[in-house]
Amino acid sequence: RKLGIALVGLGKYSEGELAPALEKTTNCRLAGIVTGTPEKAETWKKKYNIPDKNVYDYKTFDQIADNPDIDIVYVVLPNSMHAEYTIRAAKAGKHVICEKPMAMNPEECQQMIDACKKANRQLSIGYRLHFEPHNQEMMRLGQKEIFGKINHIVAENAQKQDESSPWRLGRGVGGGGPLRDVGIYCLQGAIYTKGQIPIAVTAKYHPVTDPEKFSKIEEGMDFQLYFADGTMANCKTSFNDKYNKLRADAAKGWFELSPAYAYDGLEGKTSQGKMDIENVPQQAHQMDAFADCILKDKPTTVPGEMGMRDVQLVQAIFEAAKSGKKVSTKDVRQIMDPV
Ligand code: NAD
Repeated sequence: RKLGIALVGLGKYSEGELAPALEKTTNCRLAGIVTGTPEKAETWKKKYNIPDKNVYDYKTFDQIADNPDIDIVYVVLPNSMHAEYTIRAAKAGKHVICEKPMAMNPEECQQMIDACKKANRQLSIGYRLHFEPHNQEMMRLGQKEIFGKINHIVAENAQKQDESSPWRLGRGVGGGGPLRDVGIYCLQGAIYTKGQIPIAVTAKYHPVTDPEKFSKIEEGMDFQLYFADGTMANCKTSFNDKYNKLRADAAKGWFELSPAYAYDGLEGKTSQGKMDIENVPQQAHQMDAFADCILKDKPTTVPGEMGMRDVQLVQAIFEAAKSGKKVSTKDVRQIMDPV
């Protein structure tokens, strides 16, 4: 049986990536939608053959509890709305995929984890790169020390952010900014390549060159992750630049991806030559993997606890940027991708 997924929030990511990916999945299918815009509901119903009974708005959302066609609720809303809809989905008895970043602070993350535990439902984060073969190769090369011990990591992710999602610039419901939106990939990349969780962070805001656009959020940030064995990861992120890279320098060579975090067209190189790896439909793999976990009753490799780890680190990075001090991250959740 294919598990039914309901997408909550039909914005750019649902429309451009997740719905098309759900036509390539084998363990799950697009079964329902939740939207506040009746015109979008009409278009999606026709395009994806969704029956009226599987269409909800934000007021009727909780009635999804009575719908056996929906097994998984996928929260694809602005970041500041993730906690509320994940908790409501759990209370409705559904498994949940919540987009990154999991929530606005660790307290919200804990409430989301607790709600899913209480409902005996699985919670996973929309971490597509953990199912992407180039990034999986970085995990293998780094964690198995194929080129020896890693001494240094570079993780950079920036995009020019337009006005198409005001919340990303901190307006409306807010919850945006480059660190939460794209910098989080640098954090994960450094962690799954090194195979360790940092013990401390430092950070510095980029100077603001566009005060109107960046009045509510940071324009960009440099941040450093310090690992217990002395390795450092130099990371940067911005909404006013363009770069996309993950690189590790190790005792006996180096390995890198550029672009590293894109939906497609990833390319990898090592000190021994080009990585010969195909690009795959990332989101289809990610959703199929989660559906498989539910069907076989096994835990997801990207659970709420991992989302919480990254939100704890994001909070520490903001604290470091504000204080100018090195901030300890020893108390963040210790959870890692198995290689
Ligand atoms: P978007 O702005 O295009 O879409 C957000 C949707 O939420 C819109 O359809 C909007 O109508 C709806 N919405 C409902 N209530 C709203 C409110 N009160 N204010 C604003 N919008 C409201 O954003 P997006 O790019 O689709 O991103 C959505 C989520 O997906 C974010 O959490 C983002 O981080 C995540 N995302 C993840 C990836 C990934 O690669 N994993 C990529 C893109 C986005």
